[in-house]
Amino acid sequence: MNYIIFDLEWNQASHGEEDRIENLPFEIVEIGAVKLNENRDMIGEFSKLIKPQVYHEMHFITSRLVHLQMNELEKGDTFPVVMKEFLEWCGDDCLFCTWGALDLLELQRNMAYYDMEPLSDGPIKFYDIQKLFSLAYEDGKSRKALEDAIDMMNVRKDIPFHRAFSDAYYTAKIFDKIEDPDVLEKYSFDTFNLPKSKDQEVHIVFNSYDKYISRLFDNRKDLMNDKSVTQTICYKCNKPAKRKVGWFTPNGKHYYAVSSCFRHGLMKSKIRVRKADGGGVFAVKTDKYITKEEMKKLIDKRDEIKLQKQLKKEGSSN
Ligand SMILES: [Zn+2]
Repeated sequence: MNYIIFDLEWNQASHGEEDRIENLPFEIVEIGAVKLNENRDMIGEFSKLIKPQVYHEMHFITSRLVHLQMNELEKGDTFPVVMKEFLEWCGDDCLFCTWGALDLLELQRNMAYYDMEPLSDGPIKFYDIQKLFSLAYEDGKSRKALEDAIDMMNVRKDIPFHRAFSDAYYTAKIFDKIEDPDVLEKYSFDTFNLPKSKDQEVHIVFNSYDKYISRLFDNRKDLMNDKSVTQTICYKCNKPAKRKVGWFTPNGKHYYAVSSCFRHGLMKSKIRVRKADGGGVFAVKTDKYITKEEMKKLIDKRDEIKLQKQLKKEGSSN
């Protein structure tokens, strides 16, 4: 399997001059990528400009950041031609890697705009190198700009930044430095294409956690009433784990529960309710093992939420 580290540059409607097209807010104008083999050696390069079909004026942000001129782009091929070439270059067995999670989403939005065959019929597993960098070298939550990460890692800046190819190249340089297996198992999943049915839902078990991505539901209530969403099964032995702390939510977006497996101990489950692009909601659930102390903290959190709700209720009835 090869790694495809890619970066896109895109343009958008210039304010007032051109109308923004709703299903193509960002028009891709350049694709740059490097291909790494399993040992993360660079074995290929891709760099193509794309002739715009929708936005023919360069938005000031794009021209400032990307250093591209419209007359250069006009020499490129159209998106469907370049995209086809790109996919052929990628090959069948590859894992996409990007700096941040936006590029894979915009790539698919542009493909959908041109009615191209979808990249996948369900969620796509990929590496968000920006996230991996944060997990490996920072707090796991912050997100650094690529150039700042390059500075921090003392990587030599041998080509200029802010073109698709160079940003892919530097992203690959960062990726090459991440060795920690606990970090490398933190895959991301792009959900532009959600599972169409229950059979297609995603269940993946990693060393220290597991992940489930549900199909689409009309609303949060239907989602949280679905057993396949809320069930808690030990992912090590596949047996139902006994509920110790029932599902509760601090904010209506995240839900938590703790259950106990006779053999494997306490398992914390977290559901994130996410809005889908075209309406409706879906769930991303993760399970991981926790200590008694961690369960205690979660119980305290739940009790505090209960108390707050009660106080609010009493306050409003007085
Ligand atoms: Zn178990």
